[in-house]
Amino acid sequence: MDTGFVYHDDYLKHDTGAHPESAERLVHIMSELKEAGVTEKMKKVLPVKASKEQIAYVHTDAYMKGVERMSKEGGGLLDPDTPLCSDSYEIALLSAGGVIKATDEVMNDSNNLKHIFALVRPPGHHATWNRGRGFCIFNNIAIAAEHLKRRYCANRILIVDWDVHHGNGTQEVFFDDPSVLYFSTHQYPHYPGTGWIDEVGKGEGDGFTVNVPLPAGTDDAGYLYALNNVLVPIAKEFEPEFVLVSAGFDAHVADPLASMNVTALGFGLFMDLIKEIAEKSCKGKIVIALEGGYNRDAIAKSTVSVFNSLLSRREKGRADMVSRGVVERVEEIKKVQRRYWSI
Ligand SMILES: [Zn+2]
Repeated sequence: MDTGFVYHDDYLKHDTGAHPESAERLVHIMSELKEAGVTEKMKKVLPVKASKEQIAYVHTDAYMKGVERMSKEGGGLLDPDTPLCSDSYEIALLSAGGVIKATDEVMNDSNNLKHIFALVRPPGHHATWNRGRGFCIFNNIAIAAEHLKRRYCANRILIVDWDVHHGNGTQEVFFDDPSVLYFSTHQYPHYPGTGWIDEVGKGEGDGFTVNVPLPAGTDDAGYLYALNNVLVPIAKEFEPEFVLVSAGFDAHVADPLASMNVTALGFGLFMDLIKEIAEKSCKGKIVIALEGGYNRDAIAKSTVSVFNSLLSRREKGRADMVSRGVVERVEEIKKVQRRYWSI
């Protein structure tokens, strides 16, 4: 058994009311996983809350205290898109802690676990050092990357963020940090507005941020073309010691908040490609964290497809034509990235 998942019913306690990022998302994912018969093939990992010290790897003390105060006073709006209830602070700690726990389980050789998908909420990739936004409270994936650096001295961590929105928070945390290569595909232009191809990092981190903004309507074939032509050669050269994935499923064709055309099978094919990267450079070590995705049926089926990839239960995809818009955009990106990488 080399695959696991993180889950806890307490993740349902982050009550957002009538909001796209609802507890129902995880309820649907869990029931689809059971129906597909994949849960019994994997190790279940229980999360523990992140400590304040771990949250402080990424966020300011003042921000953390502000979230705690608002939550404990009964809740409120962290920003117009991001509601808190009285349990949200504690559950946000459990969300970050779930991704941290997943990295510890994969790093512990005696477990023989290579991949863990942390089915957590609230999501994290829009949260910056001092601001929660876009449904995100603490930046789970960024905190886990810092944990890998501090606890295991990792200095080449690859973060692949295929959520349809640009992970502005994750990019900001590592913009000047050469030990974390942040790679993002996202619909552009779209929320939160960042992630153009010329955002490449700064200072020592120059060249370690790779943005792949894609036009609305990009499908499985377009994404795979971009991943194969930009991510694969750069990852080969970077040789990550650990791969983290910010997995949102809002690029799915049925998602109500975006306009991409990815299928559930497509996400499994992205995972196949990332698995191959990890197999070649770091004995397959991958931790995946759930980010967005707002059509319940779509995110449940997409999650199963990712687990099918992790469990090597993959059916083959179709070879569709790649749109001209994507081919041209990838050429633009390669021109920028050639300053840093052999692509
Ligand atoms: Zn998203």
